[in-house]
Amino acid sequence: METKIVKIVENNDEEIKKAAEFIKKGQVVAFPTETVYGLGANGLNAQAAAKIYEAKGRPSDNPLILHIDSIKMLSQITTAVPHIALEIIAAFCPGPITVIVPKRKNVPDRITGGLSTVGVRMPDNDIARKLIKLAGVPIAAPSANLSGKPSPTTANAVYEDLKGRIPLILDGGLSTFGVESTIVDCTENIPIILRPGAVTKEMLEEIFTEVRIDPALVGKDTVPKAPGMKYRHYAPKAPLILFKGNAADMLGAFTRELAKYKKMHKKVGVIASHEIVSALGHQYAYDYGQQNNLLEIAANLYNGLRFFDDKNIDLILAEGTIEDGIGLAIMNRLKKASGQTIVSV
Ligand code: AMP
Ligand code: MG
Repeated sequence: METKIVKIVENNDEEIKKAAEFIKKGQVVAFPTETVYGLGANGLNAQAAAKIYEAKGRPSDNPLILHIDSIKMLSQITTAVPHIALEIIAAFCPGPITVIVPKRKNVPDRITGGLSTVGVRMPDNDIARKLIKLAGVPIAAPSANLSGKPSPTTANAVYEDLKGRIPLILDGGLSTFGVESTIVDCTENIPIILRPGAVTKEMLEEIFTEVRIDPALVGKDTVPKAPGMKYRHYAPKAPLILFKGNAADMLGAFTRELAKYKKMHKKVGVIASHEIVSALGHQYAYDYGQQNNLLEIAANLYNGLRFFDDKNIDLILAEGTIEDGIGLAIMNRLKKASGQTIVSV
């Protein structure tokens, strides 16, 4: 199958219409959102959803999020919207947040991995919302990468993973946030964060008196409530070691570790802040942004995790961030990318 990349410039709705036709015919199409690129199909059609799992090599018990263009579309997905979900939608949608709500019967089990709940979100991206509107159905869309790899934040990254597997990629430029949506379970009395993202715990605490985090996310030995969180994710080709600790101690730690691996004749890549990369002057380095600019770091993170894949590197050393605000999402992704190989500095 040939994979076409089509750049979407303002007002070329014709190309988005063609993509919507693919969705209506039960095909899959990759499209931009403000979080990462999605791989979309008709969310009410089990056969169409099956093609997403096939293209990505995604485990079948890992449910898909349904993307809607308007509140009106919610009625196709759920009968009872919990008040927690309504408050989140009013405060943050369209935006990088997914609410877990009870599902209607017409949402196929193939989409929800057999769960009685479904994840729904309204992306803050004009191309995505136009596509959903023109398709006329909720679009099921996980990130448009091969299962296990870092999510794509550009059309080229989608192409690297899925060329020959899907017919069309809509190119809308670099994703704004660069990490997947915050997932909030809205089916209990208190909102529970199942996956951290750009809408932070602190932001949710401005509208709810109590916000919980799924204990599995903060190191407790429990099964995560979002089935996808139990899988290895975001993994670059080379093994990655994550350095965690005070920003002030990072330079010393990186300098020592690089000297150690040099003696072992290892080719080491560094993914770190502008401050560390410029102080090290190391040959193989990816600058993910200023230490104090977590939004910039999030936006560059997945490009960094893909950066060394074609550079024949033995090992990657990555600098961690603080775990407040969107830093919680950044560190969640980096920990997974490291397979929990974490060094405290
Ligand atoms: P992705 O679209 O690749 O970002 O992955 C979607 C994430 O949402 C996965 O971690 C899923 O396990 C999670 N998810 C989707 N639907 C549900 C649901 N009904 N309950 C809990 N987690 C869900
Ligand atoms: Mg994903």
